[in-house]
Amino acid sequence: MNAKVWLVGAGPGDPELLTLKAVRALREAEVVLIDDLVNDAVLEHCPTARIIAVGKRGGCRSTPQAFIHRLMLRYARQGQCVVRLKGGDPCIFGRGGEEAQWLRERGVEVELVNGITAGLAGATQCDIPLTLRGVARGVTLVTAHTQDDSQLNWQALAQGGTTLVIYMGVAKLDEIRDQLLAGGMAADMPVAMIENASLPEQRECRSDLMSMGNDACRFGLKSPAILVIGAVAAAVENQRSAAFGSAYRSRPRAGAAAGCDL
Ligand code: SAH
Repeated sequence: MNAKVWLVGAGPGDPELLTLKAVRALREAEVVLIDDLVNDAVLEHCPTARIIAVGKRGGCRSTPQAFIHRLMLRYARQGQCVVRLKGGDPCIFGRGGEEAQWLRERGVEVELVNGITAGLAGATQCDIPLTLRGVARGVTLVTAHTQDDSQLNWQALAQGGTTLVIYMGVAKLDEIRDQLLAGGMAADMPVAMIENASLPEQRECRSDLMSMGNDACRFGLKSPAILVIGAVAAAVENQRSAAFGSAYRSRPRAGAAAGCDL
């Protein structure tokens, strides 16, 4: 039997956002290597599989990537059905590409299964249409965190006219604000910060580019969270207040007037 590994996206957290294909892979799995942003609830689909936690949470003790590679290889070569389960989509800031390449170079068959990435899920769950017609012609997914500290082209991002969805940005809000302001983005550009997207604990903090650091601090924003920066972050709220006038109670903002009780 050919050694095979499924690299599967578990979606942003809500188990109902798993794909049917992910469920099928989990049902067949004998070994599941699971990241720590994956909601354990999805494991109901693989009750008899051996579950191995190989989390890599930023700043915490983490499983070395080389060890994860070797584990997948060992179980696959034993002929076991291996599922490597990752939060969101395996190929969006998830090392899916690297793991697939490493395994294929060693003769292991790899099948990638999409998951709904946190940035897209979080926005939709908060009623933010990332490419609202007439408002944003595109969306750019970026990470604020890199291993080599290489710099993004912030000026291009600030002036590109697409909605920005920023992953791993909670600890870098001030730097992101400074870079986008320096790049020419308006200080009052709407921002939504979405924590634990799609989970029952989901929280959202609405702000703007200038105030997002202070507002996030008051709000107590914690990882995992994504930032949505762009006019779409306020578009639906604006439409609703225009349609319903004073009868529409907009969600409280995290600013000074609203306090920290969001
Ligand atoms: N492959 C994942 C991303 C992994 S990088 C995906 O496609 O979603 C980890 C970052 O993803 C976190 O720091 C956070 O920015 C974001 N993230 C993951 N799950 C999240 C969630 N439920 N809510 C908000 N952000 C999340």
